[in-house]
This record gives sequence, C-alpha cells and structure tokens, in this order.
Amino acid sequence: MTVFHGQHRHSLLFSGITGANWGLDSYMSRGGYAQLKRILTQKVLPDEIVAEVQASGLRGRGGAGFPTAVKWGFMPKNYPGQKYLICNADESEPGTFKDRDILRFNPHAVIEGMAIAAYVLGTTVGYTYIHGEIMAIYRQFEQAIREAYQAGFLGKGILGSAVDFDLHAVHGYGAYVCGEETALLESLEGKRGQPRFKPPFPAQRGLYGQPTTVNNVETLAYLPFIMAMGGKAYADLGVNGAKGMKVFPVSGDVERPGCYEIPLGTPFKDLLAMAGGVKDGRVMKAVIPGGVSSPVLPAGVMMELDLDYSAITEAGSMMGTGGVIVLDETRSMVSALLNIARFYCNESCGQCTPCREGTAWMVRLLERIAAKKASEHDIDLLDAVAAGIQGRTVCALGEAAALPVRSFLKHFRHEFLACCVGHGGAPVA
Ligand code: SF4
Repeated sequence: MTVFHGQHRHSLLFSGITGANWGLDSYMSRGGYAQLKRILTQKVLPDEIVAEVQASGLRGRGGAGFPTAVKWGFMPKNYPGQKYLICNADESEPGTFKDRDILRFNPHAVIEGMAIAAYVLGTTVGYTYIHGEIMAIYRQFEQAIREAYQAGFLGKGILGSAVDFDLHAVHGYGAYVCGEETALLESLEGKRGQPRFKPPFPAQRGLYGQPTTVNNVETLAYLPFIMAMGGKAYADLGVNGAKGMKVFPVSGDVERPGCYEIPLGTPFKDLLAMAGGVKDGRVMKAVIPGGVSSPVLPAGVMMELDLDYSAITEAGSMMGTGGVIVLDETRSMVSALLNIARFYCNESCGQCTPCREGTAWMVRLLERIAAKKASEHDIDLLDAVAAGIQGRTVCALGEAAALPVRSFLKHFRHEFLACCVGHGGAPVA
C-alpha cells in the first residue's frame, strides 16, 4: 500500500515517517512534545488553546464533523469529580483506514494531542480504545505510552508541573458498533457494546456516569500541529475556502490505494490523480466519498467536487470519515450494495427493531434482486424499508445502513431494474 505518494508538501501527520521510526526519539526530533512542554512551562491557559482550536476550524474527523472546540465546551468546567477523555480508535467502517495508519506511523502525535486535550478539559485520566482487529498496532501503541511515561510526558506532575494525566490503551473485540461513542463507553465499562439512549450525552454522563469527551484519533493527532503553527495558519492550509488538512484513505478501483493527507478543499480529481487514477485505465462509475455509510455519488458529480464538508453535503452525500471508495465501470452496483447491506446487517447490535429487522430485510431483498428473482415492486419495497429505518433508531448505525441503499437506488436504479423479472432478469422459477 502506498502511504506517502503524492501527498501535499504540508503533510503533517506522516511527513518523514516510516513504519520503522514511529518511536519517541523520532517524534521528538520532529518537534514532538514541544507544544505540551510549552503549554505547561509557559502556563498557557486552557481558554487560549480552545481559541486556537476554534481558529483552526478543526472538526471531528471520526465522521460527524462536529467542531472540536464546541464539543469541548460541553464539558462542565468546575465538576468536582473525575472526568474522562477518550480517544476513539475503533475505526472499522469499510473503506476507512486512516486512524490505523496514524496510530501505526505517528502514535506520539496522538498521545501528545490527548495530553493537550486533557489539560484543556481538566481530565486526569484517558483511554485510547483501539479496534480489536489491529492488535499489532495496539501493542505498539502500548509501547509508545510506556515511552511517554518514561520521558515524563504522562503520569503525575507532567514535566514538573501540577498537571496529571494517566493514559491507558484498551482494545475492543472487533464490533463496528463500538465505534459509536456510547457503545464504546459501555464496552469500556466491561459491558456488552450497545449504544445508549441520548440524552444524557457523554459530556454530562459518560464513562462510569462521569463527564466524558470522546475525540477521534485524527482530531487529537492534529492538536500539536495546530498549537505549533497557530490556529489560523492551520486553517489557511485548506484550499478553496476549506480549513486545514485531512487524511483521505482511498480504496477500490484505483492504481495506488492508500492514505493521502491533503488540504481540505482539494478537488477530488486531484486526489484521484495522486492515487494513480482509475485502475487499468477503466472508466469511473461512482464514488463513495466518506466510508460506506455515506451516500454514493455518480462519477460525473464527484469529478466536479472539492473535498470539503459543505461541498459534499450540498452534492447529496457527506464527508464522513473521508474514506473514498472508487467504483469503476465493471462494478455491479447491485453487488456493491448487497455487500454493504450485509455488513450493516451483521454489525447491527439488535437493540432496536427498525435497525435489527430492517437491515435483515434489506439483505433479503437485495439477494432476491441479485438473484434476478425480484419484481419492480421489490425495488420500491427496498427503498421503503430503508426509509422506515431512518430517524427511528437509537444510534446512527441505522441511518448509516439506510443512506447507501437510498442513494444507490436514486442514482443507479436502472441497474437494479435490469435485474428484475420483465426487465432482463430471469423469470421466477
Ligand atoms: Fe443497535 Fe442498530 Fe439500534 Fe444502533 S441503530 S442501537 S446498532 S440496533
């Protein structure tokens, strides 16, 4: 997999790093922990850090895109008990593999970012919850934590200050739903990973019932860079009106799949060129721009888009995790959607009926369409089942299961229709 090819010269998270030099010495030789040191020795106030993060335009990189500074503001300031900071590293949506590479190549940026965020939030304990299917990276992260403790960047009285922060790495067991922040909290507490009803939100009642902030790996990893260059300078790295940088994992039918860190607002066609273009010179049919939960867009629409939150939303999809999946002309959209639907059906926690039953029904209908045994009515039924899930579930997994179905049918209905009896599909046996 190509990791560094074609990235912008401002590449922050990956610049100059290989799999072999992820450790503390390498990180410090690149200016690592200088910002944590500056903040603690020069007694930079938490509000000053929040102001920089606000100026940076940093938005949560886990999928929701919520402004980070605003999210931090939900934490009670003078809470008398324990508060927690969680790094959500339970990345497992198909097409999304950026957090895995950030943890693999630059774990200390995540640790320094967590220490800075913990200082801002007044939390003295943090957990990094890592997906259970990347155990080598989990073990490496544990090693990075040990290095940070030995160097005095974690623990009691960090660098001689009055600031404490203990960080623990925890791994899940591979359930996609544990990337939902309240399911993650349940799992951390040793329970079955099922999303909680909200409100209360984690900032009011999170881990062990205490105020908790959950931030994504990429979000936290950018904090040292934002503090080093200043919020406005970071925002100015973005192009075409967008702010800052983003890691885009690119997969599917491209010549060079991999993670590309580029300015937000970069035209999609430039990212496609970095990834070597469409595989074997074929024609691109469609793009899923933000992991499989984001609505698919036809190639023609995507080629005109800048990779910016608002531009992708206006086009009818969403930035999500930035996990770009390219589908070329040889792909069957029916097969692609069936694949996605099976994923959500398998990963539904089963807690609420529309998601548990709806995801299973969508798979059954798609299997019937793929087997060319469906009628045109089944296509409408499929859309109705997806619509029936939307807005009626405890967590966003239901929405994530419904959105691809509705968008595939909206843009590529003709391919589903072609599978139906009377439209080219075989008659029902
Ligand atoms: Fe579980 Fe699905 Fe309901 Fe989320 S939407 S709580 S995954 S059943």
